[in-house]
Amino acid sequence: IPRQRIRNFCIIAHIDHGKSTLADRLLEYTNTISERKMQDQVLDKMDLEKERGITIKAKAVRMIYKADDGKEYLLNLIDTPGHVDFNYEVSRSLAACEGALLIVDASQGIEAQTLANTYLALEHNLEIIPIINKIDLPSAEPDEAKREVEEIIGLDAENAIMTSAKTGQGVKEVLEAIVQRIPAPEGCNELPLRALIFDSLYDPYKGAVAFVRVIDGHIRPKQMIKMMSTNNIFEVAEIGVFNPDMQPVQYLQAGEVGYVAAGIKNVIDTRVGDTITDAENPAKKPLPGYKKAVPMVFCGMYPAEGEEYESLKEALGKLQLSDASLFFEPETSAALGFGFRCGFLGLLHMDVVQERLEREYNLNIITTAPSVIFKVKKTDGSKIEVDNPTNFPDPAEIEYIEEPYVEASIMLPTEYMGAVMDLCQEKRGTMKDMEYINEKRVILRYDMPLSEIIYDLFDQLKSRTRGYASLDYELTGYKKSDMVKLDILLNGEIVDALSFIVHKDKAYGRARQITEKLKEVIPRHLFEVPIQAAIGGKIIARETVKALRKNVLAKCYGGDISRKKKLLEKQKEGKKRMRKIGNVELPQEAFMAVLKME
Ligand code: GDP
Ligand code: MG
Repeated sequence: IPRQRIRNFCIIAHIDHGKSTLADRLLEYTNTISERKMQDQVLDKMDLEKERGITIKAKAVRMIYKADDGKEYLLNLIDTPGHVDFNYEVSRSLAACEGALLIVDASQGIEAQTLANTYLALEHNLEIIPIINKIDLPSAEPDEAKREVEEIIGLDAENAIMTSAKTGQGVKEVLEAIVQRIPAPEGCNELPLRALIFDSLYDPYKGAVAFVRVIDGHIRPKQMIKMMSTNNIFEVAEIGVFNPDMQPVQYLQAGEVGYVAAGIKNVIDTRVGDTITDAENPAKKPLPGYKKAVPMVFCGMYPAEGEEYESLKEALGKLQLSDASLFFEPETSAALGFGFRCGFLGLLHMDVVQERLEREYNLNIITTAPSVIFKVKKTDGSKIEVDNPTNFPDPAEIEYIEEPYVEASIMLPTEYMGAVMDLCQEKRGTMKDMEYINEKRVILRYDMPLSEIIYDLFDQLKSRTRGYASLDYELTGYKKSDMVKLDILLNGEIVDALSFIVHKDKAYGRARQITEKLKEVIPRHLFEVPIQAAIGGKIIARETVKALRKNVLAKCYGGDISRKKKLLEKQKEGKKRMRKIGNVELPQEAFMAVLKME
């Protein structure tokens, strides 16, 4: 199929607006997958994604569509992640396309993430086709959705396509619009090779596989290729297309989308955003926009049972093979023993990794409170970056501290405005502006510390707006802040894994909450257990777990033996999930207590 009949596009949609369902309908209509094989939501391969209804990694699929003009077109759908943690991946996927379908749920209207991704697409000069989905729903308001597309995004919505991905209505119109409105890719087969890596995966047989869009030149098996960010050279073992499974081909030309396998051992060598060129006839300049993905959120991960350390190490290593943005290195904690300091793109990424470790690798792990990277200027003139409370310098050595800030956009129904403004205030936010979408919905923009967002902004926002608000944020830079390290002491000993960094004004409140919470979860001992919170050695809150007075079994006196047995078993069960800190038994949920407050 000549380049003039190739169309590369992606789908932009807020979570649950119907991206995966519409993608499935497109695959069905073009017979890309036989109906027998068709299971719902082909694009979301990972179980976890299916369960959470989110698309975590970008995927690609190729379709052949015979259009009304009688000609066959090759359509490449590049699926993008729908979550703000993965914004960089989204931007690389967009850079591989000429057009985007913008799906708006007719019963919900535009959401913050849709807006953010549409702006990204406009920056990349993509042709955008607005699609109003779920028109079958009784609560659908397609005209209102159209109006929002025009007024908020500024796109002409006159030619918006009305669809129901559920019933299949409008699917053919979508395919025709892709062919007619999205331009064919430009590029030249004769120029030196430049292929953009927009995603990668790890295959046990093929190694790290790069998903690419060939921008210029062409690529064949046996060719020597060079990764332009590292200058590493590999010999192409196999190239192919997504059908939707990987299918080898002999040639990929400018404008095409496919994969490249070159016996690469690790996805670290197939970095998203990097440019692949020909090793013998290299391009002068790489494609623009490459950034190394940097972790923004860090936490400690420890095996719940000490002996699982090696399994945790192995599991993290395996996950990293397919997730170049996952960072980890060994660390030790006096309280938790041997574990790892892990870095993530954001909180969702962290959750996903934790869940995969538990589910796919059957591990029980304890995570410590997540932290952002603080920059600390010390009185000796040096500047250090701190992502672990353990490394936080003594207050006397600190000249000033800077923390990362974001611009947060929150879209919500006007009735919750008061509640959300209060919340943002509590989160140390400063309002930058407010924009009415219509008389019922509004966008608020705030300057806010990233650490407040990762603390629990998402959850709070959801509960205070009954799930009607959506959030998007973008890192804007570092600002000076009065941060302190809060230590928790049990029976006079600091429990390093419970320390965290917090704003000075919030330290007292948090200290009180945590000591109270710990008092609830720590069982009574034979002696009194003081729980204290301290900043730089100064105690700012205290609770006490009273000493145990009688034997628990005393209760069972006269009782039947089976009840006694049960009680003993229950105690044993409880013991297993305990950590011994000094001479205090700390239940594992205590670590969770610090994470999930309020
Ligand atoms: P995604 O998160 O954007 O990929 O959304 P999904 O495709 O997973 O769809 C979210 C939910 O909306 C699922 O329960 C779908 O069955 C449902 N859905 C998708 N499209 C339609 C539609 O046109 N009409 C109705 N009634 N439901 C739809
Ligand atoms: Mg989906």
